[in-house]
Amino acid sequence: MLVDAHCHLTGSYLVPEAIEPTLARARAEGVTGFIAVGTDLEDSALVLDLARTVPGVRASLGVHPHEARTWTPEVEAGLAAMVEDTAVRFVGETGLDWHYDLSPREAQEAAFRAQIRLAKRIRKPLMIHTRSAPEATLRILEEEGADEVRGLIHCFSEDRAFAARALDLGFYLSFSGIATFKKAEAVREVAAWAPPDRILVETDAPFLAPVPYRGKPNEPGFVRFTAAAVAELRGIPVMKLAELTTRNLEALCGWAPAS
Ligand SMILES: [Zn+2]
Ligand SMILES: [Zn+2]
Repeated sequence: MLVDAHCHLTGSYLVPEAIEPTLARARAEGVTGFIAVGTDLEDSALVLDLARTVPGVRASLGVHPHEARTWTPEVEAGLAAMVEDTAVRFVGETGLDWHYDLSPREAQEAAFRAQIRLAKRIRKPLMIHTRSAPEATLRILEEEGADEVRGLIHCFSEDRAFAARALDLGFYLSFSGIATFKKAEAVREVAAWAPPDRILVETDAPFLAPVPYRGKPNEPGFVRFTAAAVAELRGIPVMKLAELTTRNLEALCGWAPAS
């Protein structure tokens, strides 16, 4: 039994009629839990609807750094109205993306800080996206006291020094298909070394498919390849890794799929 700690199943990511067959393929591969992630207010509403109606799906609602330019008091109020639902287990994805810079950096920071405060108000963990901004991401998490609610660093792609500071804040590290890429040495090193009670696996579907599907559209069932790679790096059976990561998700967000 595996859980995909971060996937996109709604809006522009997957057409509605493809959702059920995609999840059915994943379940057939033993993937029974899915954290579906919203990237703006409209997408978050779709994710909430899915999480309320489809067994095994729970929601992470937020405004992605790419969409931070859309952040307004009205968006904040709309998000705040949705995140209290018990189907919602995380706030985000939020954070900083200084690689693509699709929203101005000041807007990214403002939306990030506001979502950390929202998570603290409702006492739910954070879903963090960080790219090319490691120092600023950690500084903001530290300044805003994110250790109070913790969260996960999704699609972990930083190094051991970053991991150590995130772990100090109580955060979990979620490994994606990158862990199957032989050249991603720093990420593979962290996947081998990280404490067993702080690791998760995810797809970030439809992006970043693991080997052997690299370059193709990704889907939650493929989390098994990432799980196998992380298990191999750690020298443990994949069943053990599945058990660990399912338990870790439950420890972080209070939810695990029924077995
Ligand atoms: Zn992301
Ligand atoms: Zn994502």
